[in-house]
Amino acid sequence: MNLKLKFLFCVFLFYFIKLNAQQDWITPFEQNKNQTCTYHQCIAFYKALSKSFPKLVKVNEIGPSDVSYPVHEVILSSEGFDPRKAKQKNKLVLMINNGIHPGEPEGIDASMILARECCLNPQLKSILKDITLVIIPIYNVGGSLRRNSTTRVNQNGPESYGFRGNMQNLDLNRDFIKCDSRNAMSFTACFQKWQPDVFVDTHTSDGADYPYNISLITTQRDKLSKPLSEFLFGEMLPKLYAQMALQQDEMVPYVELKDIPENGIYDFLETPRYSTGYTSLFHCLSFMTETHMLKPFAVRVESTKRFLHLLLKTSYEYKSVILQKKKESIKYEQSKSEYTIKWKLNDLIADSIEFRSYPTMNALSPIIHQAIVRYDKTMEAKIKIPFFNHFEPAINTKIPAYYIIPQAYHQITLRLDLNKIQYTTLSQDSCIQVSSYRIDKFASPEKPYEHHFLHRGVELTEIPTMQCFMKGDLLIPTTQFARRYIIECLEPQAADSYFAWNFFDGMLQRKEYFSDYLFEPMVETIFKQNPELQSEFTQKQAQDTLFSQDGWEQLYYIYSRSQFSESSYMLYPVAKLY
Ligand SMILES: [Zn+2]
Repeated sequence: MNLKLKFLFCVFLFYFIKLNAQQDWITPFEQNKNQTCTYHQCIAFYKALSKSFPKLVKVNEIGPSDVSYPVHEVILSSEGFDPRKAKQKNKLVLMINNGIHPGEPEGIDASMILARECCLNPQLKSILKDITLVIIPIYNVGGSLRRNSTTRVNQNGPESYGFRGNMQNLDLNRDFIKCDSRNAMSFTACFQKWQPDVFVDTHTSDGADYPYNISLITTQRDKLSKPLSEFLFGEMLPKLYAQMALQQDEMVPYVELKDIPENGIYDFLETPRYSTGYTSLFHCLSFMTETHMLKPFAVRVESTKRFLHLLLKTSYEYKSVILQKKKESIKYEQSKSEYTIKWKLNDLIADSIEFRSYPTMNALSPIIHQAIVRYDKTMEAKIKIPFFNHFEPAINTKIPAYYIIPQAYHQITLRLDLNKIQYTTLSQDSCIQVSSYRIDKFASPEKPYEHHFLHRGVELTEIPTMQCFMKGDLLIPTTQFARRYIIECLEPQAADSYFAWNFFDGMLQRKEYFSDYLFEPMVETIFKQNPELQSEFTQKQAQDTLFSQDGWEQLYYIYSRSQFSESSYMLYPVAKLY
């Protein structure tokens, strides 16, 4: 073979191999635009990609799921795959989470295409020098294996898909703080290993009809630390919206309605049980894409891919600003002496936004014989509507220097360890003057919610106490990176505190009682020692008829205020040390 022929043969061989290899990387979605891949197809795809591009792609198991198949991470980087080195080299970490609700699978397929493009497209490949892209291919593994074609009743494709609940029937997008599932524990370890700077969780919407393909939840602006919040809402977010519009795929804030779009949309306050509520506690710019359920699946995948692509490019463009603002946010949080643990919407203030809408009308339903909303999809109108996105502090708390947690609450220690919380343990048994909470009031639902009876409406009194702790109890300083997580978890009035999620329910029940015939003769002595109690009791007896007719209630009133009542009842065991 002469030199020219040899050259031509080599060129042919190169393209033949490349073509064949590329065919391996065609996703099931690209073969049939109304299909989403299965868990096994998805992992096999990434492993094949990693085999072909070992210096760019690595697939790891990050831990168990609720079934025998693990949760994976796919790392895309041209500078190695070590999280510590990524931080040392000042790389920005962007994490994409897919398939938390496997019936909403656009992100699963879009991320596979994006990963392939990162390997083949020179421009995207060059970004991987500065950005480490971490993709969780399918988070809810068990749910993705509960494949069916009916559970997303109002959704336009794909032909089959996974189920929202995992194999325990938990919604994993309510599990980030409480970590009931092994998936959540695996995610927490992975998230804390990388401590990403930007995070996105991919979903499909339910609810109203409107022309947009995609809507976006962004970390609530009042909750995010100021330096990051100012940058995100002042610069990055307007750019993301503008760039999507330039690509003929206009985006709108997530459409949370009171009734119909014309009356305005409400910002979504994501508490830490949600992915973005959790990730933003760690100064991570967080987003949730919600494609519109009535658009064809192919359009939704394309739209999700467009946003992921844009987020990657925009994160790259703003890399040094984001890293700088993150540092400033950590510092800013440390300088605060108070922290807002509960927010309330101010519905007197609203931004005005342009909204493309289908006009709505009420029609009489022949089925339910009631009025029901109909959208007129033959018309599209651009209207100005209010966007209620201002939240104000409802409850603030003073930040202590330390929290002390008795080691008995080992389920909490496990979660603190997963979240890389720094703490020391007491070297000896010690009685310490601390500040404690007496729980005065709380409400719980009648039916369980996500495997718990989530407490709400918590009222408490902060009291100085001398509390005795044991060698090995945990002393947690609040001057650390995870300061916001610590406060959100340990302040009982916070929406997703461990108190709210039932980790401390033992203290809400008495363990000892009294016998009325034996306690009644003791009252005379109790009153002699405590005349104030006697006067309060006599006053109540005189004023409260029901009370004066209930013997047990009267004795309980005295017992619960005497030295015989156990002091741990309704006393929140986590102490604050200022
Ligand atoms: Zn969802």
